Amino acid sequence: MTTQPPEPFGWLDAHASARTEAGLRRRVQPREAHDPLLDLASNDYLGLCRDARVVAGAAEALRTWGAGSTGSRLVTGSTTLHAELEQALATLTGQPSALVFSSGYLANLGAVCALSGPGSLVVSDAHNHASIVDAARLSRARVVVVPHLDVTAVEATLAGRAEERALVVTDAVFSVDGELAPLVELADVCAAAGAGLLVDEAHALGVLGPGGAGAAAAAGLTARSGVVLTATLSKSLGAQGGAVLGSPDVIAHLVDSARPFIFDTGLAPSSAGAALASIGVLAAEPDRPARVRAAASHLHACALAAGFSATAPDAAVVGVRVGSPEAALAATVLLATLGVRVGCFRPPSVPDGVSRLRLTARADLTDDELALAGAALAAAGAAHAADQAARTSRR
Ligand code: PMP
Repeated sequence: MTTQPPEPFGWLDAHASARTEAGLRRRVQPREAHDPLLDLASNDYLGLCRDARVVAGAAEALRTWGAGSTGSRLVTGSTTLHAELEQALATLTGQPSALVFSSGYLANLGAVCALSGPGSLVVSDAHNHASIVDAARLSRARVVVVPHLDVTAVEATLAGRAEERALVVTDAVFSVDGELAPLVELADVCAAAGAGLLVDEAHALGVLGPGGAGAAAAAGLTARSGVVLTATLSKSLGAQGGAVLGSPDVIAHLVDSARPFIFDTGLAPSSAGAALASIGVLAAEPDRPARVRAAASHLHACALAAGFSATAPDAAVVGVRVGSPEAALAATVLLATLGVRVGCFRPPSVPDGVSRLRLTARADLTDDELALAGAALAAAGAAHAADQAARTSRR
């Protein structure tokens, strides 16, 4: 009797059932061009994604350069538009030089791997973004994950290392709860231990710092040697793409050795044109960062008034703790029926038992929209409290 080989992907069904049971199935939900829901879920913090000037910047680049960049950055994928964008990003963040990647994810992979590597140490905050987690794994460095925001643990890890080279990596503003990293303390600890500090400005660029320069600039770290920044062009700048910002030596090293820079097709010109136009709008309308921060504080107050527990926002993100993945999903669905779209974060994006709603503020939210958000949150808070009470009484 011949035995049949196993179905290669036969195990998928069992995995899908386990995820269904745990309330962890995910669905791709394409939105319409004109979304009827109030957007409190996107990362378009400055409200620039559909700004006419930004769209015109993309269209102009598209007409001039075509639909794609045609090659990797070191072959044909670098245009003068990319160079102009790199100059503008360096100026915006107060850094000497910049290098554009085709996403923020790839900027992190490129920077972390190129600045660490076998025989070195990477120290990473436990709440860092998945792109940093993946970058640390890919780096083949020894990786130590330290408790969230724990500068003492970073210091002890650096002090106890055998490796000569070390890189500490942190989100500037953490993506789920929106809290700021202790950047000055981290920079001091790194400087004393001869370690580099890489700060991911994804959720801080355009929101914090002078003119939206970011969290490192806000913390007075622009001139610090040993500090390197990464950023995405896909959040405040409303476009797509990523960047690494730092000294000319660091950027030259990345050009020579960062695999996501060397082997990936260059950023599409339309995205570069959009990001450049957004930087122009930010310079012309410097009140946008303060407006988004004020809107975030308002949303936080609404969440507290609705009975939720939520961290006071340091930037545009408000993390609202709900508990179980099912409760987070139920609140997200209810808010959608009330006209408000929020993010729903469940494991593996967050640890078990701390599923969250993620509300994001935008600089262009109107008073009416903020009032709608407040009313919907109040209803969701009441429904959540009633559900919790019913569960407790059944126990
Ligand atoms: N870093 C952080 C902190 C992020 O939140 C994100 C995007 N979610 C990225 C990096 C990746 O950026 P991109 O979407 O441009 O790849």
